[in-house]
Amino acid sequence: MTATAPTTAPAQATEEIQDAGHVDVLIVGAGVSGIGAAYHLRDQLPDRTFVILDAQDNPGGTWWTHRYPGVRSDSDLFTYGYRFKPWRGPSIAAGEEILAYLGEVIDEYGLDQYIRYQHRVTAASWSTEDCRWTVEVTRGDTGQRLRFTTGFLWMCQGYYNHAKPYRPEWDGMDRFQGLVVHPQRWPEDLDVAGKRVVVIGSGATAATLIPAIAEKAQHVTMLQRSPTYFYAPPTTHELAVMLGPLDLPDEWMHEIMRRQYITQYHWLARASFEAPDELHEFLIESMRPLLPEGFDIDKHFTPRYRPWQQRIAVVPDGDLFAALREGKASVVTDTIETFTEHGIKVSSGEEIPADIVVTATGFNLSVFGDVAFTVDGEPVDFTQHLTWRGVMISGLPNMAYTFGYFRHSWTLRVDMVSDLVGRLLTTMQDTRATMVVPTLRPQDTDMQLRPWSDPENFNSGYVMRSQHIMFKQGDREPWTHMLEHDEEREILPKADLDDGTLVYR
Ligand SMILES: Cc1cc2nc3c(=O)[nH]c(=O)nc-3n(C[C@H](O)[C@H](O)[C@H](O)COP(=O)(O)OP(=O)(O)OC[C@H]3O[C@@H](n4cnc5c(N)ncnc54)[C@H](O)[C@@H]3O)c2cc1C
Repeated sequence: MTATAPTTAPAQATEEIQDAGHVDVLIVGAGVSGIGAAYHLRDQLPDRTFVILDAQDNPGGTWWTHRYPGVRSDSDLFTYGYRFKPWRGPSIAAGEEILAYLGEVIDEYGLDQYIRYQHRVTAASWSTEDCRWTVEVTRGDTGQRLRFTTGFLWMCQGYYNHAKPYRPEWDGMDRFQGLVVHPQRWPEDLDVAGKRVVVIGSGATAATLIPAIAEKAQHVTMLQRSPTYFYAPPTTHELAVMLGPLDLPDEWMHEIMRRQYITQYHWLARASFEAPDELHEFLIESMRPLLPEGFDIDKHFTPRYRPWQQRIAVVPDGDLFAALREGKASVVTDTIETFTEHGIKVSSGEEIPADIVVTATGFNLSVFGDVAFTVDGEPVDFTQHLTWRGVMISGLPNMAYTFGYFRHSWTLRVDMVSDLVGRLLTTMQDTRATMVVPTLRPQDTDMQLRPWSDPENFNSGYVMRSQHIMFKQGDREPWTHMLEHDEEREILPKADLDDGTLVYR
């Protein structure tokens, strides 16, 4: 039996389509990216009219979709928070604290009036003749179909399908008598008290969920096919503890801690390339004293990939390991052979009993929110297009997108991309251009194309599963999508908007 969060089924779409008006800029998505984009747009170009459309009924994107027990950030909130709004809590925050922070941004900067919830964008068509996008929307609550037009489309839709989580089908699932739930659709009333829970997966979601439910459940088993890297920093950084008695202004504290974390994460990222074996050793050895005596760390916690080739799961204060030490949770590293009536049988022959199975198996990546794009009547096949600095797409006029970092806080890139888009819109205004489109220069046409994410660099499951539907990158700037903040923070603010790769009309 599969359980999901109670959601209202979207209303049937109506045939008739109503005109919803024109805006200068239309932002898709009211998550961290869309809220950040809206703040910066108002700050830098206050005369522009704009609207933010989101399919969900609340802001927050990821943090509204994921409300399972224990949901929290992996990143510190000084860098996951925006540069313009100080974070005042401990470094690692719960999902609802992040929602509250985003809610404060919306309130303080009066953004609510621009957000339209339950507005799913289904299609976006560019007309060169009219020099505008026509954006089709279906309302989730009424089924009403709307048509907006806009001069500039800013896609802040995130990277995965919020409505359809990724869950593989395993043999025997239909005969399992217990409940199967996905963290992306966690039922609000699910009570784990006294239950035997098996969590399939060992990424960040499993690592945060397990300590949160281990207290109440009879037992929680983390069932993983292969191990993940974990890192157990303190919930509050020691520097923040030291600075606490100085009673610094919030802005100072935010900036100091941002610099501290940026430096720390740069060190980690650099070490993952320059000294991967040493970093591997460091991560494994820092876990060892936190694990129960005799724990088979080689089998369960020694990954076979380079650190940071997939996300390192953060376990603040080592709470996952505490659950293991206390015997409330355990780890099985094996492949699933079949579900049985009362649990899961793995290849070794062991049957793990379960009342509830949580499939922490990740996402279905979605390209630009599954919006059907056309340019002058031609459907856009993104696999035939290239990224321009991870901000625009070749051949798509007047369209930008915000995509954060994998290895650093997503939001560091939200602020930087927003600055670039602001600069681009200002350039267009100053030069009286109404259209800008990334276009390959003659010297770029024989460029070697590379996948959107180089598997050697970053190869998480959801990224690898989706390479075939993603746009590509080239072998030189500006046709690349940089993954390192320390490199990009030097380059993006100075990016030449008149280097011939952006064609203005
Ligand atoms: C549990 C969890 C923990 C995470 N922790 C971290 C972390 O600690 N640090 C970090 O850097 N990253 C983390 N991430 C990654 C996280 O997704 C990003 O940090 C960030 O939240 C992405 O924000 P976003 O606004 O770009 O996209 P999202 O949060 O995905 O929001 C996109 C919004 O766009 C809307 N949308 C999409 N398509 C359409 C459409 N067609 N029409 C209308 N609306 C649409 C969606 O409804 C959604 O509300 C985490 C992810 C998860 C799932």
